[in-house]
Amino acid sequence: MSAITNHMPTAELQALDAAHHMHPFTTNDELADKGARVITRAKGVYLTDSEGNQILDGMAGLWCVNIGYGRKEMAEVAARQMMELPYYNTFFMTTHVPAIALAQEIAKLAPEGLNHVFFAGSGSEANDTNIRMVRTYWAEKGKPGKSHIISRKNAYHGSSVGSGSLGGMNYMHAQGGMPIPGIHHINQPDWWAEGGDMTPEAFGLARAQELEAKIIELGEDKVAAFIAEPVQGAGGVIVPPESYWPEIQRICDAYDILLIADEVICGFGRTGNWFGSQTMGIRPHIMTIAKGLSSGYQPIGGSIVCDEVAEVISATEFNHGYTYSGHPVAAAVAMENLRILQEEDIIERVRTVGAPALRAGLEKLAEHPLVGGLSIKGMMASLPLTPHKESRAKFAADAGTVGYMCRERCFANNLVMRHVGDRMIISPPLIIEPEDIDVFMTRARTALDETYAQLKEQDMLKSAS
Ligand SMILES: *Cc1c(COP(=O)(O)O)cnc(C)c1O
Repeated sequence: MSAITNHMPTAELQALDAAHHMHPFTTNDELADKGARVITRAKGVYLTDSEGNQILDGMAGLWCVNIGYGRKEMAEVAARQMMELPYYNTFFMTTHVPAIALAQEIAKLAPEGLNHVFFAGSGSEANDTNIRMVRTYWAEKGKPGKSHIISRKNAYHGSSVGSGSLGGMNYMHAQGGMPIPGIHHINQPDWWAEGGDMTPEAFGLARAQELEAKIIELGEDKVAAFIAEPVQGAGGVIVPPESYWPEIQRICDAYDILLIADEVICGFGRTGNWFGSQTMGIRPHIMTIAKGLSSGYQPIGGSIVCDEVAEVISATEFNHGYTYSGHPVAAAVAMENLRILQEEDIIERVRTVGAPALRAGLEKLAEHPLVGGLSIKGMMASLPLTPHKESRAKFAADAGTVGYMCRERCFANNLVMRHVGDRMIISPPLIIEPEDIDVFMTRARTALDETYAQLKEQDMLKSAS
C-alpha cells in the first residue's frame, strides 16, 4: 500500500481528494475545480495547511474543539484505552468503565434532575434517539397518539433522516424525502432578520406564542415534545430576545409537553455555563449533547434524560441503540475533556476573560459599514452583513453571495469565519487568549474591508427591494 502523507504536493492531494472523496454539504464538482484546502495539523487555536499557512480557527472546527487542538493528554488517554479495551458494546447486559464513568460525570455536571445518559455516536444520532424516546415515553404512559414534535424553521438538529426532519432547513428538506411525518415547524425568534418594526421583546413573545397556537391547532393530546437549541447555531447564531424562553417554558409546562434542549453547540461551556439551558434559564426534560462533549477529539454524542422520562423508558425494553453507544475510547477521551474543562477552569475563564474580550472586539467590528449588528452569547457570535445598517436591509444579490465572498476574504487572510447566508459566524475554541482575539479582529477587519471594496467595485452594495 502506498502511503499518502502530509509531505505530498498540495495539488496531488487535492486531485486524489477530488477523485475519491465526497464532501458533506458541498457541490463536489465545484470543489474539485477549486481544490480543497488541505489541513495538515493544528495546535491551540491555529490550523496549519499544506502550504504552511497558519490559520486562526474562529470556528473551533465545527463548533466543537472547545479545549483547543493538540492536547497530548487526550491522545494518551485514547492510546491507553485502546490497549486496555478498544471496543466493547453496551448491549446484552454488559457495560464497561469508560461508559459508567462518563455517564456519572455528565449527570453530575447536568442541571438537577437530569441524571441519565443514553449514548450515541453523534448529535444526529442522539436526536434520532430523542424522537423515539419521547414517543415511546408517551406510548408507555398510555398516550400513543401524543407523538407529534414541534420544532422551528431554520433550526439545525443534524443530518440523518430523523434529525434532519427535526431541523428546519428548507434546502435539506428539498432532498431525500424529508421531513418525516409528525414533525411541525414554527417560526424562529430571529429579530434581526424578521422582527421588522417590532421591539425585540414583543417579537420574542409573539414567536414563542406560535408554539401555543401550534399545540392548540394539533391538540395537546397529540404533541409529545418541543425541541430547540437554546441559541440557534448553524442557523446563524440567533440569540432570542429575553422574552422568548420564559414564554416557551410557560407553554411547555401548561400543556404537558416535553422540552428537548439541543445542547450540541451550547453545551460544555460555549455560552459561559456548562449548558445553554442554564444560560437561558430553562428546564428541559432531555438535552442533546455531542461536539464539545469530547472537544471533537472523538465522535460521541448522547441524550441526557430526566428522572421522570428515564423511569418510564427503563420499565420497558427500548428497542434502540448504536454499535458505538458509549464507545470506550470515545467515552474515555470525553472524560479527559471534562477533566480538562474543570481543572483548568475553562468555563469560568469564558465568563470572566474570553467572552468579554470577544464581545469588546466584535462590538468595534460591528461599527464597520458592512456590518448590521452583533448577536453574541458567551463564545458564539454572528455579524449580519448588510448594505444598509439602519434598515437591516438584505442585499439585492442572492442570499449568501456576500457572505461567501467575505468568507473567501477571511480564508485569504488566514482566518476561518464561516458564513450562514450573509451572516458571519464566530465560535472559537474556548481557550482562545485575548492576544489571539486581537489577531482575529485584525484579520476580520481586513477581510471586511476587502469585501466592502469588492462589493463597491462590482456595484453590489444594493438593497433588495
Ligand atoms: C452539529 C449539530 C447537530 C448534529 O451533530 P452531528 O454530530 O453533526 O450529527 C445537532 N444539533 C445541533 C444544535 C448541532 O449544532
